[in-house]
Amino acid sequence: MMVERDEIAVVGAGLAGCLLACFLARRGYPVALYERRPDPRTGKVERGRSINLALSERGLDALRRVGLEQQVMADALPVRGRMIHPVEGEPQFQSYSSSGDRAINSISRGALNNALLNAAASRPGVRLAFDHRLVGLDPDTGEMTFETPQGKVTATAPVVLGADGAGSAVRGQLLGYGALTESLDFLDYGYKELTIPPVGGDFALDPGALHIWPRGTSMMIALPNPDRSFTCTLFWPTHGTASFASLGSPAAIERYFATHYPDLIPLAPNLVDDYQHNPVGVLGTVRCAPWQVNGKVGLLGDAAHAIVPFYGQGANCAFEDVVELDRCLDECGDDWPAALPLFQQRRQANAEAIARMALDNFVEMRDKVASPVFQARKKVEHALERALPGRYMSQYELVSFTTTPYAQVHRQVRRQYRVLGPVTAGAATALAGAALVLGRGRRG
Ligand code: FAD
Repeated sequence: MMVERDEIAVVGAGLAGCLLACFLARRGYPVALYERRPDPRTGKVERGRSINLALSERGLDALRRVGLEQQVMADALPVRGRMIHPVEGEPQFQSYSSSGDRAINSISRGALNNALLNAAASRPGVRLAFDHRLVGLDPDTGEMTFETPQGKVTATAPVVLGADGAGSAVRGQLLGYGALTESLDFLDYGYKELTIPPVGGDFALDPGALHIWPRGTSMMIALPNPDRSFTCTLFWPTHGTASFASLGSPAAIERYFATHYPDLIPLAPNLVDDYQHNPVGVLGTVRCAPWQVNGKVGLLGDAAHAIVPFYGQGANCAFEDVVELDRCLDECGDDWPAALPLFQQRRQANAEAIARMALDNFVEMRDKVASPVFQARKKVEHALERALPGRYMSQYELVSFTTTPYAQVHRQVRRQYRVLGPVTAGAATALAGAALVLGRGRRG
C-alpha cells in the first residue's frame, strides 16, 4: 500500500540539498526545494568561486545509490597523486595509493550542481523554487518566510531540512530562537582562484595530478578542468605583511609570483587580472549543536558542520550525511522525531573527526609534503600497504578511497601508528638519508 506523505521542505539547492531531494523522493516524499539563487542552469558562474572540487569514494558511494555516479563521472578527471612544485627544480609526483591506480576525481562544481538539480527536478514530487531566500523560520510550527523578487512569501512544512551551506540561514534562525549554540572558527587564511589556461589546446600541466606549491606560509594547489584549463587556489593569510592585503600593484603581484611561484608565470597569462579581480574567500570550521530541533527542523552538510577544504572532503561528507539520514529514516520507520536525533548521534563525531583531519592536512600540504622525510614516509607507508593488504592503510587512503566512518579512520590510524609508527619513522629517516647521500654522490 502506498503511504501518502506530507511535503518536506529542503532549504538550499546546493550539492547536499539536491541529492537529499532525490533520496527523499525515492522514499515517496513530495519535496519542496527552496534556493535563494536564480536557476544556475540558465545563468553565469560567479567569478572566482571554487570552480572545481575533488570527489572521492564517499561522494561516489552516495551518488551510486541513486543511479547518478556514471552521469557525474562522465565529466570528471581522475587525479592519481600529488605533483609537488618546488621553487627551484623539477616537480615530483607522489602517488595517492600503493598500487598507483586509485584516484580522486576533479569535477566542475557547477556541472555537478546542475546534474544534481536535473536529477532532483526529474524525480516525481520534487518542486524547485528558485529566487527563494529563507529569512524567517518558526521551529515550532515549521512556518518559513522567503524573500522573492515578488516580495515576501510564507510556506509551512511538517519537516524543514537546512542544506543551505556554511552560512546557513536555517541555523541562524534556530540560533535566534535560542534552540542551538554554534562556534565559528575562521582561519587567518583566505583563498583566491587563479587560472592556467590550455596551451595549444592541451593541458599546460599533467592533468593526472593535484598540483601543489607548498611554500610554508602560503600554498597553492591546482586541479584540472575538462576544458583543459586548471583552476589554481592560492591560500594565504588575509592580513599582514605577507598576505593578500600586501600586494597592491600589478608590479608587486608579478614580483611576488616570480619569486615564490616562478613556474606559474609563463602558464598564467591572466595572473594579474585574476589576482586583482577574483574575490578572497574565507575559510573556517562551523560547529553547532543540536543539529535538530523538535524533530521538525534539521541541519546537514555545511550548514551543520562546514570544514576547511584541505582534505577535499566537505562535499563528500555532505553526501555521506544524506546516505546516513536516509538510513536513519529506514531504521526509524520514517518517524522524523526519532530519525533526526539518531542522525546527529551517528554523524557528529564523524564530522568532528574530518574537521580535525582537514585542519591537520593544511599543515601537511603547505609545510610537509616537500620534505624528504615526508616523501620517504609515504614510500614506507605504500610498502606497508603492499606487505599488509587490508591490514594497513594510510589515513589518506582510508579517508579518500573507503567509506570507513571518519571517526573510525582517526582511531585506526592512531592504532596503526602506535604499532608501526617507530618502524615507519625509522625506515623513512633512513630512506631520506640514503636519498640525500646518493644525491650528493651523483652530483659530486
Ligand atoms: P552548498 O554547496 O554551499 O549549498 C548551499 C546552497 O544553499 C546554495 O545553493 C546556496 O545558494 C543555498 N542557500 C544559502 N542560503 C540560503 C537561503 N537563505 N535560502 C535558500 N537557499 C540558500 N569539498 C569536497 O568534497 N572536495 C573538494 O575538493 C572541495 N574543495 C573546496 C574548495 C574550496 C575553496 C571550498 C571553499 C570548499 C571546498 N569543498 C570541497 C567543500 C564543499 O564545497 C562544501 O562542503 C559543499 O559545497 C557543501 O555542500 P552543501 O550542499 O552543504 O552547501
